[in-house]
Amino acid sequence: MSEARDNFERHLAQTSEFPIGLEIDHAQGSWLYAADGRRYLDLIAGIGVSAIGHGHPAVIAAIERQVRRHLHVMVYGEFVIETQAKMAARVAGLLPASLDRVYLTNSGAEAIEGALKTARKHTGRSALVAFEGAYHGDTMGALALAGNESFRAPFGPLPGPVRHAVYGDTRALGMIDEQIAAVVIEPVQAEGGVRIPNPEFMVALRRHCYETGAILILDEVLTGFGRTGRLFAFEHFGIVPDMVVLAKALGGGMPLGAFCANGKLMGTLSRNPPLGHITTFGGHPVSCAAGLAALDFIVSQRLWERAETVGAGLRRRVEGFIGPDVRAVRGIGLLIGIEFSEAAKAHRFVAETISRGVVVNWTLNADSVVRIAPPLTISEDELDFAVEAMEKALATLR
Ligand code: PMP
Repeated sequence: MSEARDNFERHLAQTSEFPIGLEIDHAQGSWLYAADGRRYLDLIAGIGVSAIGHGHPAVIAAIERQVRRHLHVMVYGEFVIETQAKMAARVAGLLPASLDRVYLTNSGAEAIEGALKTARKHTGRSALVAFEGAYHGDTMGALALAGNESFRAPFGPLPGPVRHAVYGDTRALGMIDEQIAAVVIEPVQAEGGVRIPNPEFMVALRRHCYETGAILILDEVLTGFGRTGRLFAFEHFGIVPDMVVLAKALGGGMPLGAFCANGKLMGTLSRNPPLGHITTFGGHPVSCAAGLAALDFIVSQRLWERAETVGAGLRRRVEGFIGPDVRAVRGIGLLIGIEFSEAAKAHRFVAETISRGVVVNWTLNADSVVRIAPPLTISEDELDFAVEAMEKALATLR
């Protein structure tokens, strides 16, 4: 056993009894290179982080420049840090004009927490609405929103009250009234099994939040920056949220999250009391430098268009898997879910696919669904390799 694996097994706190356990030596483009000399095609992109692939030269150069200039110099929000301010301006410039204030964090969950605090303080209300199947992170507030009772129950009591509504069902709107501070929703549920709501639901939800004064918070942590075939998934529905939460691809492989709203809403965090929501490392300059380089690449290459066309082609091929073991295939852009007849089959499929050199995984709140979310830069040849490996894996289930 390598020293790395020994340390991993003996000292790294584990998140499950069955980690994938690939020992990574390095990563480049769409490939992970393992310590045993094998290479694996990365069809999950670090769960949506590596949108432009691994080891992009522009990202590495930007990190090197920033590292030489300075690392951390002061907690978030006190000094004018060029790279950080530029990242805020860049994100604001990509979003609709009503989302022009950007609070930078370290992670998606931390951004969700900030969004919840902002909505509560701004509205003076406390109750929240979230959705069955939802995943928003694992801190206490984000976990309270989780749409899977088995993940919430062992950790209660959690902040609340939280009302859980059925995802994509307009009858859910009855739960949203004048007591609700915020409604938090993913425009596509990824961990919920790649569930895509119909536009009528999202439009009705938007209207209902306006009518009741509830703040509509869209969690675009996974869907943001091109994954679904639009720069932001809310564009599919022609709606604009009151707040949007970002992370994952935002940092270009470095840790970075953000929550964004208009100046009036975000201003609530800077007074009564001042410093009521602060962070030491949020918007770390090296993360911002990496993220700016990645965003430049995503925007200059219009990678959301690639996600749409390449994703549609891949989805058509994966639809060919539908049969006794595969019940359905759902997808939007380069986010595709393969729903198996039972969780055990999905788990075997994942193991068999990985053993053939392609990394896929199942989704947290729907473990019969296998997720495909490769870098948006993945090539046609690489996709051929992936489809062939998955076909062979599927054949072993019979
Ligand atoms: N929201 C969504 C939709 C996510 O997919 C995730 C992470 N998988 C999070 C929030 C939490 O982000 P983080 O792990 O950076 O806290």
